[in-house]
Amino acid sequence: MTVMMHRAVVYRAYPTREQAALIERTCGCARFLYNRMLADKIAHYRETGEMLRVTPARYKREFPWLKEVDSFALCNAQLNLDAAYRNFFRRVKAGEKPGFPKYKAKHRSRCCYKTNFVNGNIRFEGDGRYLRLPKLGSVRVRQKREIDPSWRIKSVTVEHTRSGRFEVSVLFEFETQEPERVEPESFVGLDYSSHDLYVTSDGERPGYPRCFRRTEWKLAREQRKLSRMQKGSANWGKQKARVARIHEKTRNQRKDFHHKAANGLVERYDCVCVEDLDMSGMSRSLKLGKSTMDNGFGMFRALLSYKLEDRGKRLVTVGRLFPSSQLCHECGYRFSGTKDLSVREWTCPSCGRTHDRDVNAARNIRDEGMRLALSA
Ligand SMILES: [Zn+2]
Repeated sequence: MTVMMHRAVVYRAYPTREQAALIERTCGCARFLYNRMLADKIAHYRETGEMLRVTPARYKREFPWLKEVDSFALCNAQLNLDAAYRNFFRRVKAGEKPGFPKYKAKHRSRCCYKTNFVNGNIRFEGDGRYLRLPKLGSVRVRQKREIDPSWRIKSVTVEHTRSGRFEVSVLFEFETQEPERVEPESFVGLDYSSHDLYVTSDGERPGYPRCFRRTEWKLAREQRKLSRMQKGSANWGKQKARVARIHEKTRNQRKDFHHKAANGLVERYDCVCVEDLDMSGMSRSLKLGKSTMDNGFGMFRALLSYKLEDRGKRLVTVGRLFPSSQLCHECGYRFSGTKDLSVREWTCPSCGRTHDRDVNAARNIRDEGMRLALSA
């Protein structure tokens, strides 16, 4: 059976000065429209108690300069606002508090817009060295590996990053044979670790590369410098761009690391078992804050999931209430002394074995995941 797949590929872009200015203007118009529609919706609701349905067309009459930019960018701004409303009104799980749509401030929000493929308006040219986009024309892009000719462009997100680079993220759609399901034989459990990303039930840690730590350390130093500068001064502006560049670098390094770690697991195991962690709740309650967010286990899990599915393999999620770190893997005794996170090693009061906290937890996750996978 064939299935439809989507994949995004990010290219670095090198627009001309005119193109760069138009990208800026398009992002500005999309943001303006978003904010304007939000304000009108709020005012209308206050007056009448009803929801206002709006479309960009109305605003183009009122603000003719909106017609100068890619109209898909404006349509997508409206869709984004609709999605923000839907998110606010959605049925919530216990403890969730979706926020009301917010205004987009120029200095806080990302500078980007999305455009859609219609009738060949977006295409690669010049052996893939240029990408033709609505209103912008041909934009120089850095070539990537060969894209399969059967892949079709669905949409493109154009972004001016905080460090001043331009990036285009091209979303492709293609048909592929559904991978044959692998009968799982090899299982691995992962215990989340704020230092190493994870520890496996075989006792492996992915080993966050040292050079990444160095970039993180550099980032912290440059951020300290920035905080001591006169806000708004020329040097402050330069320093801000420097911090943004290092930020991007750490983000890319982390992404790269996640891909490699995930590929390694997918190659060696048929079924990967993980805990269902509430990441946002965790960083609040355990005071791990930044480091939890930083190594992004949630992102890693999503990556792992699609890589496994691509090969007909599975990611199994073990329930949030499963006491993975408290059970002795050897005898099943439940020891609550491990609730204290500083306990890295413990001895089971029942069978007398000494456990590494993380490896023991990973083994419990593996066994519980195996049970779930085989009973399903
Ligand atoms: Zn025991």
